This record gives sequence, C-alpha cells and structure tokens, in this order.
Amino acid sequence: MARNKVQFQKGLSEAQFSALYGTEDQCRDVVTQWRWPSGFVCPVCGGKQHSLVKTRALYQCTACRRQTSLIAGTVFASTKVPLSTWFRAMYHLTQSKGGLTQSKGGLTQSKGGISSIELGRRLGVTQTTAWKIKHKLMQVMMEREATKRLMGRIEVDDVDLGGERNGGKRGRGSPGKTPIVAAVETTPSGKPSRLKLRRVTGFRRAEITALANRNFDPASTIVSDGLRCFTGVSNAGCVHQPIITGSGRKAALIPAFTWVNPTLGNIKSAITGTYRAVPHKHVPRYLAEFEYRFNRRYDLAAMMPRLGYVAVRTPPMPYRLLKLAEDHA
Ligand SMILES: [Zn+2]
Repeated sequence: MARNKVQFQKGLSEAQFSALYGTEDQCRDVVTQWRWPSGFVCPVCGGKQHSLVKTRALYQCTACRRQTSLIAGTVFASTKVPLSTWFRAMYHLTQSKGGLTQSKGGLTQSKGGISSIELGRRLGVTQTTAWKIKHKLMQVMMEREATKRLMGRIEVDDVDLGGERNGGKRGRGSPGKTPIVAAVETTPSGKPSRLKLRRVTGFRRAEITALANRNFDPASTIVSDGLRCFTGVSNAGCVHQPIITGSGRKAALIPAFTWVNPTLGNIKSAITGTYRAVPHKHVPRYLAEFEYRFNRRYDLAAMMPRLGYVAVRTPPMPYRLLKLAEDHA
C-alpha cells in the first residue's frame, strides 16, 4: 500500500515540546502572546503600559492600576493547576496519534485520544482533575468546530452509539442508544476532507433539516442511503442524492453515486467501538474531539498551539456546567 500522508505526519516531538513549553514561565509567556498578540491591553481603560505581578500572573495597568489575571475569562480560568500542566494536557490530547490509519482505501482514526485515567497518570494529577482538564479542552474543540460548515459533496450516514449490546432491540433508533449523524465532506474524486459528527434527538426529517441548516453550506450536495429522514436536507436548500441500494433499475441509472467511500464506514466503527460507554450527555464533546483531530490530521504539529490560541478565547466552563452539558447538533 502506498505511503499515507497522515501516518507519516510529523507531530510535535517531546523534545520540541519541552524546548517550547517546558517551564511555567514559558507557558505564561506563550499564553500572553496568544491573548494579547499586539501586547497587553487593559480591559478597563485600554491602557498598554503595565507591570507584572509575576507570582500571581497578574498584569497591573499603569494608568488605572487595575489588575488583570492572565487567565481570567479564558477556559483556564480559576484553575489550581499550573499552566505547564495544561500545556502537557494539550500536548497529549492533540499529539497522541490515536491510530490514524489507512485501511481498505479509506482513512480513519481508530481511537479517540487519551482517556482521563491515562491523562491523570501522565500529568501526575487526580483522575477528577484530569477529567476536568480534558473536558474543558474538549469543550474548546467543540465550540471551535461549531463555527465551521461543510460544503460541496457531503456523504452522510446514521450511527447508533452505545446502548445494550445483548438482548437490546436492534436497528436504527433503538432505546438506550445515542443517535448520531456522521457527515464527511469529500473532494470531487471521493477523498475525505472534513468531518462532522453530530448527536441528534432522533432520525427524523425536521431534525436533519435543523442539522443541515447549522452544519452544511446550502449549496452542498448530500449523498445518503435511502433512510427517509435524510430527505430533510432539501428543506435546508441542499441537493439530496440518495443512493439506491441493491441492484434495481434505479441504481443502474446513477452509477456515479455508488457507495465508494469507506472512510465513513471506518469512522462509524471507530466511534461505536471507542465511545460505547460514554454517557449520553457527554457524547457531543467526545465526538468533537474526534472531529477536531480528524479535521486537523494534516497539520499535527500545529494542532497544539492552535488549540491553545482558541482556548484563551473560549469562556470559562465551570465544573457544574461541564457535568451537565447537553448541547445538541
Ligand atoms: Zn487600565
């Protein structure tokens, strides 16, 4: 098999990471650059002159004397963990390869990143702390991904996540399962470019219309199987091209739309295998992590600083809300 671009992607090595982000001072400087790329600006008076209360990472405005915390208003806010630990967490979340592989001609990511148990072990913090850090960073990924729409030719399929494995009702929309729509934007030659994974309340027409409105460019062409709810994309302005499965007369009329892209199938097996035991309410964040990593697979080394840049622009997410989170689509 030909060498795959992703498998041979150079990530950020541990040595490079240590050189760039190894100390607390380095991490503070980097967060400062991310937050104020053109230098400190006082949020109260707009003043640019400041002094640094280094022990507490506070910036004091020379004009109005107001002290501003470097991490206030960011996803790192009110953390008891050093920034250098957050940086190591961002490193593990983005650089652990997660088994990106080429198989059966399609590209897939066989695993979602790192578990909070493993993350806790590597960071030397409790599992609860690791869980909070991981979920806050996944929240950053989710909010980032929410702003992007797929366009062009998009293949969609339904996925049932979790639920009873034995004795449970089988088939689409079974009780106890989390219904998900997987969508892959493809190049004209059928190669996958970007991915969206969205939880839905059910495989219903109106739900698919709402999902398409939020996530697909209206000029897109949506390719799906015959599941009826997918006709809902038409109401969002998209062109719908259902694949007629089987070998009937209709199938022969649209040879260009045979199901040729195994990536979607691989992604489906990857997420059903990895996130089987994830609580329903946290599913969107896990999917966002998978999606975020997939969509940035060609620029592995840059993934960490890009995540950090967005993290300082993502509002704080208290633990209480983190545990509740029930965001749809
Ligand atoms: Zn000021």
